[in-house]
Parts: sequence; C-alpha cells; structure tokens
Amino acid sequence: MAHVRVESLRKEYDVGTVVAVDDLNLEIEDGEFVTVVGPSGCGKTTTLRMLAGLEEPTSGTISIGGEDVTDVHAKNRDVAMVFQNYALYPHKTVFENMAFGLRMSTDMSADERERRVTETAEMMDIEGLLEDKPDQLSGGQKQRVALGRAIVREPDVFLFDEPLSNLDAKLRTSMRAEIQRLQNELGITAVYVTHDQHEAMTMGDRIVILDGGELQQVGKPTRVYENPANEFVGGFIGSPSMNFLEVDVDDSGDGVNLTGLEAEFDFELSGSYVDRHAGSLEGGRYTLGIRPESVEFVDGARNSITGRVSVVEPVGSDNYLHLDLGGEFVARVSPAIEPQPGDDVTLTFDESAIHLFDPETGRDVF
Ligand code: ATP
Repeated sequence: MAHVRVESLRKEYDVGTVVAVDDLNLEIEDGEFVTVVGPSGCGKTTTLRMLAGLEEPTSGTISIGGEDVTDVHAKNRDVAMVFQNYALYPHKTVFENMAFGLRMSTDMSADERERRVTETAEMMDIEGLLEDKPDQLSGGQKQRVALGRAIVREPDVFLFDEPLSNLDAKLRTSMRAEIQRLQNELGITAVYVTHDQHEAMTMGDRIVILDGGELQQVGKPTRVYENPANEFVGGFIGSPSMNFLEVDVDDSGDGVNLTGLEAEFDFELSGSYVDRHAGSLEGGRYTLGIRPESVEFVDGARNSITGRVSVVEPVGSDNYLHLDLGGEFVARVSPAIEPQPGDDVTLTFDESAIHLFDPETGRDVF
C-alpha cells in the first residue's frame, strides 16, 4: 500500500526569511494520481523534493504506506522521481540506465534484472533502443526511458517534476496520454507537479492548487473548476481566465441585486442563485467572478451589460472577445459571433454561473 500522508509540512529557506511551503496537509490514497499546480515559486518542487527525501522539512511529517519517513534518507524511501531534464546517465546505455536502480537497491539476479528491464522496455515501446546512449535519443524517447527506469523499480510512489515541459506540444499530448495509460494499467500512486493547469486538470484524479506556499484547494478537477474556493483558484483554473467585476450587493428586497461599481450594470437575481444561497448572503461589496464561456449575447434584455469590443481573437473552435467593461473582460463565444473592434455588444450570464468572492479575503462567500 502506498498511501501518502503529509501533515503540517513546512519548509523555510534562508533562516526563515523564505517560507517555501507553509503548513501543508494532504492525503493521497493508494493508486491515486494527484497533480500539483500553481504559479512559479508557489512551492511545488519543494513539496515534491521533501516527499522524495531530497529536501529536509523545517517541521511536519511525511508518511508513506503508514510508515513515518520524515527522517528516512532518499535512497531508503520506496519512491521514484521523474525529472524534467530526464536525468539519464550519459555514458550508460538505455538498458544500463534502466537496470541501474535495480542493481543499486536490490540483490536481484542478473537474469531477473534483464527480464524486468526487457518487459518494461516493451511496455514503453523502447525495446529497440536498449543498446543506445541517451545522446542518440530524441527528447520524447529520453523521457520514455526515464519513465521506464522509474517503472522498472516498482516503487510505492512515483514523483513527477514537470516531466513533459521540455517536449513540444504534440509530443506532450501523446506522452500525457501514455502516462495516463500506464496509470490505468499499473494503478500507480503518483504526485505530478506541473505549472500547466490544462495538464493538471486532465491528468489528475485530484488536483492540488498551491499559491505562496499555501494550499488553496484540493479536489476533483471538475469540482474545483465549478466551485473554486477563492478568487485565486477561480482565476488560475480555466482558460481564458475567469473575469472579475466589482459589485455592490443589495439583499434588502425579495431578490438579490448586484450593481456594477466600475462597469455599469444592474442585475436582479431571483432564481437559482437566490434559492441556493437564500439567507446566507449579506449585502456589501463583493467581487463577482464569471467565466468567459458562461457569457451569452442578448439584445438589450433585463440583466445585461453593454461593453465595447477591443480585440477579437479567433482560435478556430471559438472566438475570444476582449471587451472594455470598466476593466478587461473576455467572452468566449461561437466563431459565428464575430463583431468588429469598436462595436458595442450586450451580454448576460446565467445566475447559476455567478461566483461571489469576498474582496478582502478572496474567499468564495458560499
Ligand atoms: P517553479 O514553477 O518556478 O519551479 P515552484 O512552485 O516549484 O516554482 P519552488 O521551487 O518550490 O517553487 O520554490 C518555492 C519558494 O522557495 C520560492 O520562493 C523559491 O525562491 C524558494 N526556494 C526554493 N529553493 C530554495 C533554496 N534552495 N534556497 C532558497 N530559497 C529557495
């Protein structure tokens, strides 16, 4: 069993002046694939290196399979790490690179070693490369070897540190699918660090979002997308990013009234939003979050906003319209909707797509 538990994990650098990871609590089930995402410097790599035993926590504990490994040396932890730069031994052949970990960590017979390397190489479709040296391989082949080297050891936990970042977009897509196939076949327990939210969303059973060393949210990707815990997560997950508008909320009548503070609009919510949140919303100032894909165009109906188009960005499947609504606002619409820059358009959004965040704490108010 490879259940991973992280409790109150903290890492300080430079005598406490940098807090890279702050009070992180996390549980990863056996066989679960967890992705960790966040902006540069949020503490992703530091977290992974502490799990690997390459970095000593300032405080807190890490356990794997029920055993406290906080003070266990990296080479005695049953984890395998796959790096962005492959970290292959340049003078060894692919076979030797893959067999190396087996030779180091077990007293396995040479026959058994060969059998396992060959089997794994077949699984990774690199059996024809076993006698090659790393500099004879393409980036994608090197990363297959690095993956194969991790798999052949049959570790309790796989740790991936941005393994696909050096590959071009097409290869990244196919390697992503390959890792998911391996995950389905082998049921591996994995922590996968990436700065690419698309990769994190598509690969993770659950996604962990960090910012400033602190856990922002953990959950199933669709759930995090639909119910971001705070403004940061709302803005970080989803592409193009969620739009934010400052509003004043008035709950003194039967419904709830939202008035734009920078953009001019007046929304009277009455249906699903009020039903869901009846009694729990207090009047005052909030940040309204609305996703670009939740915007609909209307002909000046009730609950609408008018804005001027500044840029039309066609991406094939959709058009991204950049609008001036007090600040920048992006609407993701069908390619059939193609206004010109300078046109005024009127839009609305469904009540169920509205998020309200506390402007002080950023927290989703519900
Ligand atoms: P990136 O996506 O850019 O790799 P990251 O999310 O992996 O970023 P970390 O590398 O974990 O972030 O760094 C977290 C914070 O800790 C950053 O502020 C970084 O500058 C700092 N940091 C990391 N390693 C060290 C170190 N060895 N000494 C001092 N500060 C460090």
